[in-house]
Amino acid sequence: MSFTHANRLLLASIHDVSSRFEGEVDRLTDLLAPHVGTRLAMLVVPNHWGDTPIVPGSAFASRLRSWADQGIEMFLHGFTHRDEAEYSGAADRMRARFMTASEGEFLGLSCAEAAARIKDGRALIESVIGRPIDGFVAPAWLYGDGAREALKQSAIPLAEDHLRVWSPATGAELAWGPVITWASRTRFRLLSSLAAAAALRHAPLRVLRIGVHPPDVRHPALVGSIGRTFTAARRNRRAARYRDLLD
Ligand SMILES: [Zn+2]
Repeated sequence: MSFTHANRLLLASIHDVSSRFEGEVDRLTDLLAPHVGTRLAMLVVPNHWGDTPIVPGSAFASRLRSWADQGIEMFLHGFTHRDEAEYSGAADRMRARFMTASEGEFLGLSCAEAAARIKDGRALIESVIGRPIDGFVAPAWLYGDGAREALKQSAIPLAEDHLRVWSPATGAELAWGPVITWASRTRFRLLSSLAAAAALRHAPLRVLRIGVHPPDVRHPALVGSIGRTFTAARRNRRAARYRDLLD
């Protein structure tokens, strides 16, 4: 099957939007703007690491609202982003701690706890932006069974993990393909992510997703790779919004 320029889509997102990373989010927004304009999603953390709450009426809250007014999609991205669950299995414990640096908040939550965090986080963000959120993405793209069940009951239109985008209400898959993202926690991860981006940006997927994180801007090699990836993707893709997947 072949795809024309018009129906091959590019979806961009900025992860971990919180006042802790306001300067980095500004740099990422500037970096992406020539490629996608305001066709991007911001993944907002209501209280990053439990000590950086979004406060209604604050300067950062008005910035969120103004980004939303410009057409930037707003996704709920966990509540604190930090994984504080106690894991009974050694494998789960290893996965939580080493694969994600304990940032997989929604991996070990019960359905009731996940539902409570989704409800509170959503209410906060929606009161700040003055409109419904566009979707939910679990921190580190990690969903436990409780999180998946809570999401299904939440009536949030879209969710994604690192392999797909789906409708939580119906379970329908809306897009498939690994998301391009960069890592900088170790030199090895940084180099691997550069190689993966260079290969994946030419992947013959209908929908190509690119997700960037605040620490990316501290590494010139990553900034260069992000720029090249968007340039390559835009050669044969239309920058779109996640909500276009629902049409
Ligand atoms: Zn995140």
